[in-house]
Amino acid sequence: MAVDVGYQDKTDEQKAITEMVRQFVDKEILPTAEEYDHEDKFPEPIVEQMKELGLFGVTIPEEHGGMGLDLTTYAMIVEELSRGWISISGVVNTHFIGSYLLMKFGTDEQKEKYLPKMATGEIRGAFSLSEPEVGSDVQGIKSTAKEVDGGWEINGQKMWVTNGLRSGLVFVLVKTDPKADPPYKGMTCFICEKEPGESEVPGLTIPPKIKKMGYKGVESTELVFDGFKVTDDHILGGRDGVGEGFRQMMDALELGRVNVAARGVGVAQRSLELALRYSQQRKTFGKPIAQHQAITFKLAEMGTRVEAARLLTMKAARMKDAGERSDIEAGMAKLFASEAAKENAEEALRIHGGYGYSKEYEIERIYRDAPLLLIGEGTSEIQKMVIGKKLLERHKI
Ligand SMILES: Cc1cc2nc3c(=O)[nH]c(=O)nc-3n(C[C@H](O)[C@H](O)[C@H](O)COP(=O)(O)OP(=O)(O)OC[C@H]3O[C@@H](n4cnc5c(N)ncnc54)[C@H](O)[C@@H]3O)c2cc1C
Repeated sequence: MAVDVGYQDKTDEQKAITEMVRQFVDKEILPTAEEYDHEDKFPEPIVEQMKELGLFGVTIPEEHGGMGLDLTTYAMIVEELSRGWISISGVVNTHFIGSYLLMKFGTDEQKEKYLPKMATGEIRGAFSLSEPEVGSDVQGIKSTAKEVDGGWEINGQKMWVTNGLRSGLVFVLVKTDPKADPPYKGMTCFICEKEPGESEVPGLTIPPKIKKMGYKGVESTELVFDGFKVTDDHILGGRDGVGEGFRQMMDALELGRVNVAARGVGVAQRSLELALRYSQQRKTFGKPIAQHQAITFKLAEMGTRVEAARLLTMKAARMKDAGERSDIEAGMAKLFASEAAKENAEEALRIHGGYGYSKEYEIERIYRDAPLLLIGEGTSEIQKMVIGKKLLERHKI
């Protein structure tokens, strides 16, 4: 039961592609997500089908083998995938950020080398900023790359790398000038190539995946760099990219915020669907619980949250596509949609009563998955800091 509000102005192409993804989600993802979640197993067959559907190349230009679609359409697709299971969108999302970094900042050689293989999903991308002691305060990272004979040597420990094991390319932010003041001027992004699935390569160890509360199936790992060798060709943007890494990553994260917002819309939407269905089936005191005003009000609030989250997300995506400045809008969309996802998941769980607490019901998984959205790509507190700061900048008296 899909409640498709806020999308009256989809183009024919957007209608066709989102309908295709929705059918894929209904047929392949929703019936199997619980099993993968309970076993914390990577959904290999689903990912293979996603490659065939071209979902790894949605935003990659046609000249490099992708579909060349815009962020707005991509956000619609992410919403549909997340409605099924956010771990599935997680396989695509870090890949999307990696391909964006290449499209926007890569040299022609880097684009030609990597984008065609990324478009087919033959190699998948991950990105790595966070470290054991640093998440929000990105300029505080400690990992380094030191120039050595013939290239660079990367050292340090990274944390929480989604798709850390199965990716073939990791976009890693490190310090190339640890003494730079301000620190962001001494940060560089390297494109680290590795064999997907190999946990030991020269100079890099990938420990077993981190055990998580939700967002299962897709792995989040540490990356332990110990003398990992790269050449100038692996600097994002080539030699000119030295010292540009922070700016590049922050640009990509702005896009990533729209991406997480779209995931929030999908989770909030699915929670609403489950609540609408269950509340009309379950009876107490002689009538369906949906007929008790306290529950009707919950449904009303949940539906309103979905609509508002979707509109904010679409606005931010469309502004970005139009080349307009959208830092505030992307932050607002991410903040609101991720909180909407968490609130709708909790309300749907409450509506399911005791059954919501049972692993037999989908909402139990969604309730564990949703909080991730409050954390990744900047926590809610960090979004508020960004939104507040930018509002003051735009409206300085
Ligand atoms: C499942 C999962 C997947 C992830 N995937 C990736 C990935 O692929 N790549 C990657 O690089 N990272 C990834 N991350 C890391 C994620 O981006 C960080 O966890 C996030 O940025 C928060 O950083 P932290 O965990 O270090 O929290 P901290 O920065 O230590 O923050 C802790 C708390 O303090 C608050 N806080 C911090 N600073 C302030 C402040 N100035 N004012 C007010 N409050 C503040 C935060 O909001 C939070 O509530 C992932 C995380 C998870 C859980």
